[in-house]
Amino acid sequence: MMFPLLGGALAYVLSHPPAATDPEPAETVAEAPETPPPPAVEPVGEKVDFIVRRNDTLERIFRRLKLSPDDLNAILGLPGVRQALNRIRPGDKVTVVHEDGAVHALNRRISDTEVLAVTRGDDGFAAEILATPIEIKVAHAYGTIESSLFVAARAAGVSPETILQLANDIFGWQIDFALDIRPGDRFHLIYEQKHRDGQYIGDARILAAEFVNDGETHRAVYYASEDGKIDGYFAPDGRSMRLQFLRAPLDFRRVSSNFNPRRRHPILNRIRAHQGVDYSASHGTVIKAAGDGRVGFVGRKGGYGKVMILEHGGGISTLYAHMSGFARGMRPGQRVKQGQTIGYVGSTGAATGPHLHYEYRVNGIHKNPRTVRLPDAAPIPAAYRADFQAKAGLILADLEQVQETTLAAAPAD
Ligand SMILES: [Zn+2]
Repeated sequence: MMFPLLGGALAYVLSHPPAATDPEPAETVAEAPETPPPPAVEPVGEKVDFIVRRNDTLERIFRRLKLSPDDLNAILGLPGVRQALNRIRPGDKVTVVHEDGAVHALNRRISDTEVLAVTRGDDGFAAEILATPIEIKVAHAYGTIESSLFVAARAAGVSPETILQLANDIFGWQIDFALDIRPGDRFHLIYEQKHRDGQYIGDARILAAEFVNDGETHRAVYYASEDGKIDGYFAPDGRSMRLQFLRAPLDFRRVSSNFNPRRRHPILNRIRAHQGVDYSASHGTVIKAAGDGRVGFVGRKGGYGKVMILEHGGGISTLYAHMSGFARGMRPGQRVKQGQTIGYVGSTGAATGPHLHYEYRVNGIHKNPRTVRLPDAAPIPAAYRADFQAKAGLILADLEQVQETTLAAAPAD
């Protein structure tokens, strides 16, 4: 749902193009995700949108649509046009206006923000690049989790990418999205949506977020300083949301159950006290380095099967067991960054099924990685504090206001 309270104040046009997204290859015009804008003067004739199929060439498409091959040659002869038209890929959309095969106009999107427009005038064809800027609108979403985070997100109209942003880039250090999510958890977001020609084309950045997990409220705001030196998510008190260790060192999307935190370890428990966390996940799920560090051990070790140990300094090490394989280049001494793929979930060693067994140790002593107090992150430097507080205060006030609006609008039960 659009959030009207913010009005036009926060709506602005992106000065940098956002990451391009590949359109789904579509065979039918009806599924076309977007419409290039009409040229300034609407030419007369029949308008045809065609979606490029596999192995299509413009020649083939023109033949299929019975369009004049001479017109195609004339269009391709225009300066700069051949390059823009020859790179067609399945799923691309081209719009042609013609009369009995004689082309009057041809439009093709060449970037997120530009359309190539060819029109026939009195002196033959002319080509120009039309700017179709992406407009950013600020939207608001609210959801309560009943079965899974992704289901709740879809119900709230939020894209899966935005939910991954929420889990990976904002709260992935405070909340274990693989094991900690509970029915009744809820989220509130203020985020940007990209629009072009009046149509929604995707989500952009989350500006502020609240996640209530198991009754505990987490909040974060996006902050970027004017000089570009600071850019990221911060708690309202100015602490960075990023900690030295991730809560769940794997791609939580493929963890089999979000709601079974007390999973027993059927084999290893009998061998020794269970000293880690088990994430039941499908074979091949990406395992990430929980924090920056170096590879201390990589190889096989008894019941652990294929195992990796990372040394993070300060006496902290993390261990990842039962892996199906290691990422390329993992050898003792190799540096790894937090979030980097180090290997894949498997069931090597004493494991009944594919899962990640994860341990967190401080000076050799096992700590529960789900509850251990992680080293604090750096706060916003003093020089930026006033600016941060002013901006964060505004967006947090907006977040609170939309919350009151949604809660007031929710049916009483
Ligand atoms: Zn285990």
